[in-house]
Amino acid sequence: MGEIISIINQKGGCGKTTTAVNLSSALAILGKKVLIVDIDPQANATTGFGVNKAELNSTIYSVISGEAKIEDTIHETMIPNLYIIPSNLALSGAEVELTSQIGYHTILKEAIDPIKRDFDYIFIDAPPSLGILTLNALVAGDSIIIPIQAEYYALEGMADLLKTMKLVESRLKSPCPIKGILLTLYDGRTRLGREVYQEIKNFFSPQEYIFKTIIPRNIRLAEAPSHGKPCIIYDKDCKGSQAYLKLAEELIEMEDEK
Ligand code: ADP
Ligand code: MG
Repeated sequence: MGEIISIINQKGGCGKTTTAVNLSSALAILGKKVLIVDIDPQANATTGFGVNKAELNSTIYSVISGEAKIEDTIHETMIPNLYIIPSNLALSGAEVELTSQIGYHTILKEAIDPIKRDFDYIFIDAPPSLGILTLNALVAGDSIIIPIQAEYYALEGMADLLKTMKLVESRLKSPCPIKGILLTLYDGRTRLGREVYQEIKNFFSPQEYIFKTIIPRNIRLAEAPSHGKPCIIYDKDCKGSQAYLKLAEELIEMEDEK
């Protein structure tokens, strides 16, 4: 039975999409069957796999708007075992359309649940807001990964995110356990990076898991999307790719320990 993991932080630029693309690629390379669901209208995960978003006629929006069956929106990627449900700008309309529908926060969950058993992992790449799409990702996910950029103000907005997660739990009766906090864009050479790491440890309660793997700031990770490839395909040996492979192994170990 697949596990649905939503990658959430309403802050833009903290590495959500980079994590969704490269962690799912790494897991697929390690033999897992993985689906990535892009629910950001900016569609960076979609273009990160070289999918031309202008030419798409079946996207996650087609599913949400009831125009397509979810099975018909699953696209292959250049990595065997790895599939994507792409997004495009049409999804930005969903924010408005969804609110007028009954049960609008469970639409994504209801769409994905029937295909859950077809994959080992399903990752949802959320947009940088706490709007309806992110709410749908919180409800659909069995658990949440929160990427946090190692910089000043890294934890700004984190209280709002945790509050939203609590509301989803209490009002919608949908638990959102944290799978792990992931430190991204880390520069270990600076005192700042180390300080932020300590700050994150102090902020979360000790029962929240912080991934042992830390994602370094690595130029190859930033270059890869412009080539329409996950970094693991673009440059498998670079520090960024190696970190995401380690993270994939850490995730698999967590499953084995259960
Ligand atoms: P988000 O999805 O949270 O908005 P992205 O994953 O798109 O964030 O990352 C924001 C920008 O930072 C992108 O240009 C991306 O290529 C770059 N980036 C992300 N992670 C790293 C990293 N570890 N090292 C270098 N650049 C990174
Ligand atoms: Mg993104």
